[in-house]
Amino acid sequence: MSLRIPLAKPEITDADREVVLAVLQTPHLSMGPKLTQFEDAMAAYLRCPFAVAANSGTSALHLAIRALDIPRGADIVLPSFTFSAVLNVLLQEGLRPVFAEIDPATFNVTPETVEALLCDRTAAIIVVHTFGRPAPVDRLSTLARRKNIALIEDACEALGAEINRQRVGTFGDAGILAFYPNKQIITGEGGMLVTSRRTIADRARRLRNQGRDPGLDWFQHVEVGYSYRLSEMNCALGASQLRRLEETIERRQTLAARYDRKIAEIGEALLPSLSAENGRISWFSYVVLMPEWMDGSGRDFIAKQLLQKGIQTGRYFAPLHRQPVIRNSVPAELVVTDSVAGRALALPFFNQMAEAEVEEVCTALAKALSDLRGRRM
Ligand SMILES: *Cc1c(COP(=O)(O)O)cnc(C)c1O
Repeated sequence: MSLRIPLAKPEITDADREVVLAVLQTPHLSMGPKLTQFEDAMAAYLRCPFAVAANSGTSALHLAIRALDIPRGADIVLPSFTFSAVLNVLLQEGLRPVFAEIDPATFNVTPETVEALLCDRTAAIIVVHTFGRPAPVDRLSTLARRKNIALIEDACEALGAEINRQRVGTFGDAGILAFYPNKQIITGEGGMLVTSRRTIADRARRLRNQGRDPGLDWFQHVEVGYSYRLSEMNCALGASQLRRLEETIERRQTLAARYDRKIAEIGEALLPSLSAENGRISWFSYVVLMPEWMDGSGRDFIAKQLLQKGIQTGRYFAPLHRQPVIRNSVPAELVVTDSVAGRALALPFFNQMAEAEVEEVCTALAKALSDLRGRRM
């Protein structure tokens, strides 16, 4: 059976293609005017003073950790229910991950689960806005300030999400964005660090380009840096996509609302709530929780049934504390994370998805759920 409804699909318009082709008519393929345009447009959109583009979200996170001078060996508090990018950067930098439990209704950490883990070894909190739902960064930033530790927001899945009309990514010392083809805006590969602190932005710009001071002579190499520049083609595409981000967010909101109505009718799978407390969700993916009676093998049965009908689903996320790379060295007991990770299923979700396709996915999901129930009787 061929794949008819994919999990995600990038939307590239004629306008997007034109701006990329236009870059190819110029001699500026890196570190040129499109970089400045994309960074300035993002800073304006987020109402945040500084934006520093990088060649991936993971690179941007690495720049943030280095620009904040977080000492090796320190504890960093983060969720386990997230993407491996975050863990990789910590392990590369010799930092110790300490995993905070999540709230199953939001998939996010809470000020309470984070605060319980803070100690005098803690240097930073990395909070992830999971699936586009804003985590309570307003309260987490108060906590971080009170404890005199850094707060990094991983907003890679949540560009445009807000709390009290302030856009996520701008609450902490640094925020991270990503533009991989399944995100709200796409550059192929790409990411960005945003911050209100000039020293962090300047340091990140230097680290991104081999540790060379941009204001000084080309050969003024002042510290160990990286090759994390984002090409002009990527930047042009990003700036073009950013222009219609609000439309994209609205479109995805409509799709999510459609899903919610249909899935409520099934009455089996648990829904994530449609609204965020004091805020706005920028839908990244639409994830449902399978009912409590179902274990991981039940969820896999459902995924397989849908795939047989050409509908792709995803198991987001495999918890970090269970990964072979660390599971023996970083013990953690996370009952909620394990339960959520075993039951979460991401359904197809992309800008151009037709409402009829949403209906089709939900009908197939209802059928698979009732088949599974039948088997258990
Ligand atoms: C996408 C994503 C990233 C960054 O991914 P890259 O592939 O490096 O751009 C980081 N954190 C989270 C939570 C993500 O979803």
